[in-house]
Amino acid sequence: MQFRRLRLSGFKSFVEPAELRIEPGLTGVVGPNGCGKSNLLEAIRWVMGESSAKSMRGSGMEDVIFAGTASRPPRAFAEVSLLTETADGEERDITRRIERGAGSAYRLNGSDVRAKDIALYFADAATGAHSPALVSQGRIAAVIAAKPAERRQMLEEAAGISGLHVRRKDAEQK
Ligand code: ATP
Ligand code: MG
Repeated sequence: MQFRRLRLSGFKSFVEPAELRIEPGLTGVVGPNGCGKSNLLEAIRWVMGESSAKSMRGSGMEDVIFAGTASRPPRAFAEVSLLTETADGEERDITRRIERGAGSAYRLNGSDVRAKDIALYFADAATGAHSPALVSQGRIAAVIAAKPAERRQMLEEAAGISGLHVRRKDAEQK
């Protein structure tokens, strides 16, 4: 799976709508401290379904919404869209939006979907919010310190079988 384009609006420091094309090959994000490099990586993890506010460096998920500055009012929502292309050449646009007091909603190519559908989409492509393909600051130390069960989860993601677990859990609940 390739990422083609990232769009952000009201997400953390990206208060104004921003669009970044992601070219094939290696992409580097450079800039001074505090300019938003980690926020960009977090936006990608968030649109892929990240459910832990702590791993987004917040205390609640609404902390991803632009909080305002001395000269700018806070935003009422945050929205991130990721255009992906799968190995078969299909383009799919994943959007996640959060509104204050209303929680998160997902869209796949413009249609409302469940968080679970997004998890399956990325699990089947052997990537996802917790995929070892995304290495955040401090993550290397976390891999070393991981408990065996956590390390197994990383290996399963890498092996591309975590989609099976999501489906099994789903089936067991029915
Ligand atoms: P470093 O080089 O130090 O790792 P960085 O480029 O990774 O820096 P980030 O951590 O992505 O920088 O960005 C931090 C900035 O984002 C801070 O200025 C912080 O105030 C701002 N920020 C984070 N969350 C919000 C929010 N909800 N609303 C407004 N600004 C936010
Ligand atoms: Mg950073």
